[in-house]
Amino acid sequence: MKKNTLKQIGKIGLLTLTISTTISLLGDQDYHIRYGIPTSTEAFQTMLEEVEEKTPVTTDSNDKARVFYYVMENPNLDESEKAMIYDLADMLKENPNLNPDLAGIALKDLRISYGESNNQYQDSTIAIYSSYDNTIHVFRRKEEVPSKIMVHEIIHCIYNNHGTFHLPDYFVEGTTQLLTDEYASETPFLEESSYPYETIMVKLLCEMVGSDKVLETFTDGNLGHIEKELEKKISKEETKTFMESVNNVFQEYKQERRVGKEQLEKMLSYTDYFFINKYKKEPTREKIEYYYYLRELLKEMAEEDSYTHYLNYIEEKGIYTIPYFSTELKNTYQTPEKVYLEKPLLKRIASYTNTQQNV
Ligand SMILES: [Zn+2]
Repeated sequence: MKKNTLKQIGKIGLLTLTISTTISLLGDQDYHIRYGIPTSTEAFQTMLEEVEEKTPVTTDSNDKARVFYYVMENPNLDESEKAMIYDLADMLKENPNLNPDLAGIALKDLRISYGESNNQYQDSTIAIYSSYDNTIHVFRRKEEVPSKIMVHEIIHCIYNNHGTFHLPDYFVEGTTQLLTDEYASETPFLEESSYPYETIMVKLLCEMVGSDKVLETFTDGNLGHIEKELEKKISKEETKTFMESVNNVFQEYKQERRVGKEQLEKMLSYTDYFFINKYKKEPTREKIEYYYYLRELLKEMAEEDSYTHYLNYIEEKGIYTIPYFSTELKNTYQTPEKVYLEKPLLKRIASYTNTQQNV
């Protein structure tokens, strides 16, 4: 592999895998749903039975591919829209805590509507996912929407029944975006959508507690998994203050598109303290360098026009090829490298992101 260029992840490989999984499942006629079905509401149960009747669905193992049966049942989506969901096969497969029935129920009647007028949101907003009517509302014509924006919204839908609504906004958006980047972007380590700083914060949390805990939290909506890990290095009280502080920073950022320096410094004093504790026994130069990279990048949130500051930062300091979730990326990038972006790519991102956002 050529150094200092981003390797493009082949989409063809993913697609082949998806198709073969689906076909092999279709061949087995003895399947029925048994695994992990919540019976809390009658409506939910009825929906499950409907699916079970129409399709020979899978058995006792927590088989993530079962999600695809629900997707196939969806009368509202066309094949190109369904293909975007099938492309997320690895994301579904690699999350041990994802419940395919919970995800499937949402995907079974997901709608996507295009070309709506945009009254509530800024003109730059392209799409939102609304759990209220389980619809991705797109404020553009179909052909104008980049697929990774659609994937971001589809991931919201997949996790909607799990518990993500309990979680802070920054965490939901950052994790959704990081999953989109790793599983559905040609530039997986480069955040070029609406949530660069949220994504950086989630990367920092992954460094603090491990990406498995972050994913577990995202899946079941319980911040306790992260807090418990933090409490191994800092006190319960400090953990609570830190998590509140992160939330405050990002709430302010959401409203103002920049954050007061004091707020930011307070939050970073906790991460500094945490990492000093973490590395004091075994200081690893690479790890410390990477922590500083993330920390200094987050400081740009205090600047006016913070997105341009983000771009300038990654242009000057480069980006790290460190995957957190995708097994394919982890196999490809076993040693973290710092890569520098080529000017045309940076230019494209700059023009693209300032005018296009999603929620
Ligand atoms: Zn979102």
